[in-house]
Amino acid sequence: MKKLLPINLKPLLEDLPTALCNNIATTVLRLDKIHAHIGGNKFLKLLGYEKEIKEKKCNRVVSTGGYYSNHLYALSYWGWQNKIQTVAILKGMRPDSLSPTLQDCEEKGMGLIFIDQKQYKELNHYQETFMQAGDYWINSGGYGVLGTVGVQALMEHINQQFTFTHIICACGTGTTLAGLCLGAQAHQKIIGVSVLKGHESLENEIVALLPYRIPFTILNNYHQGGYARYTKELLQFMSSFFDRTGIPSDFVYTGKLFFALADLYKQQYFTSRDKVLVIHSGGIQGNRGLRILDSFMAL
Ligand SMILES: *Cc1c(COP(=O)(O)O)cnc(C)c1O
Repeated sequence: MKKLLPINLKPLLEDLPTALCNNIATTVLRLDKIHAHIGGNKFLKLLGYEKEIKEKKCNRVVSTGGYYSNHLYALSYWGWQNKIQTVAILKGMRPDSLSPTLQDCEEKGMGLIFIDQKQYKELNHYQETFMQAGDYWINSGGYGVLGTVGVQALMEHINQQFTFTHIICACGTGTTLAGLCLGAQAHQKIIGVSVLKGHESLENEIVALLPYRIPFTILNNYHQGGYARYTKELLQFMSSFFDRTGIPSDFVYTGKLFFALADLYKQQYFTSRDKVLVIHSGGIQGNRGLRILDSFMAL
């Protein structure tokens, strides 16, 4: 995967039509286009871990996540590509039919271990047991300092060629945002759209990844009901955004990001001198978790 950085940015940068962004110069970085399976921010987060996994010569990587996790999806593909065994610990009983995401993970050789809710609360024990056995542990969503390394490198690479005043991304664990902060220049404003409801500790979790104080802003009002929750308004927005730009989004992360951005234009959050970079962090495969996918397509 190292070959992916530095990447040729030009084909990944798309300007939004001015009518859609209130004449504020806005460019989307289409990380979703990098790779069909490990596109998006998850491959960037794995870059830092990959280095350590290879240095430590671990031959098994264990992680955890949900049934539609972009992180597990990317990790399974990465393991398959690098010939490293991957294992996912999942909450609940193994369902009769796996989600399409987990089916893909299994197909790429990822071992799936299902544990009940009570055991899941003791996830730390599992982590310790695996680590004592010499396995490499990656937190859910790739949260951690090493997860920031690839994102930082990307941001520095962008800044060598372009001048943006604002960078905005979706936040789950905030690792991507922390990487952007580390790679940004002092004048650049970094904004994160949190996709979780009541995730009050997010800012502290981001600060914990930064070696020194770097300012950033988190917007907490665009979760649409909470993680992986959605409203009809959000789906309609995503559909019309796709019609007008050709840019697909996912209902868990990037749909909420573009929705928030549209609202920021309305509020005149930006000035006419600003140049906004939007990080499209991928995640399109997660739309398979949309229960009303068929009716969404018909919107
Ligand atoms: C995981 C994910 C995010 C959140 O990234 P964090 O680094 O955890 O904040 C955003 N967008 C997509 C598409 C993701 O899969």
